[in-house]
Amino acid sequence: MFFDPTLILVIIALIFAMLAQQQVMGKYKKFAKIPNSMGLTGAQMARRMLDDNGLEDINIKPIKGTLTDNYHPLKKIIFLSEGVYNSASIAAIAIAAHETGHAIQYAADYIPVKIRGGLVPTANIGSTMAFPMFLLGFLFSIPFLMDLGIWFFGAALVFHLVTLPVEFNASARAIQYLKLNYISEQKEIQGTRSVLQAAALTYVASTMMALAQFLRLIILRGSRD
Ligand SMILES: [Zn+2]
Repeated sequence: MFFDPTLILVIIALIFAMLAQQQVMGKYKKFAKIPNSMGLTGAQMARRMLDDNGLEDINIKPIKGTLTDNYHPLKKIIFLSEGVYNSASIAAIAIAAHETGHAIQYAADYIPVKIRGGLVPTANIGSTMAFPMFLLGFLFSIPFLMDLGIWFFGAALVFHLVTLPVEFNASARAIQYLKLNYISEQKEIQGTRSVLQAAALTYVASTMMALAQFLRLIILRGSRD
């Protein structure tokens, strides 16, 4: 039903997203096997980085899964996946320092993270309701519904765009902290950087995906005028 030339955009973005996912898993697996020179686990690294930034009130807890690490700003908890929490690998401290970077962003009132937080409800509607809305409008030729779908999808796209500086900044904070305080070996710095760069690529991929879908809706909408 929806096989049209604009679908090619979405397929290209999808392939890029799959490659990025493969890349991050590859880098993670590689550097999860190499121990860091300080012998610190992800949880210990996050604790030190938090304390050094005066964030003693933020807790660290383990969470199930692989690469499920995240910071919960309301609960003030950094959740580290099993392979990060208890592991003293290069990958573990890279990811732990990155998540701590997010915690510091909130504490420092970093503007993009605030904008991103404000966009969450709209972006949630956008990612669940926008396409059905547009589809109904498209099938029954209701321009208003198509436009509404496009606006909500646009909000989801802005959310993805704002996520990029947030993610890049968290990684920059992580690498800077590790370089200043712990790791000195060039090989280890490169290792942490390549894990975090691969992770950043997945956010670039999902932004591309959102952009491709957005463009597709705009083009489909234009075909109905
Ligand atoms: Zn992140």
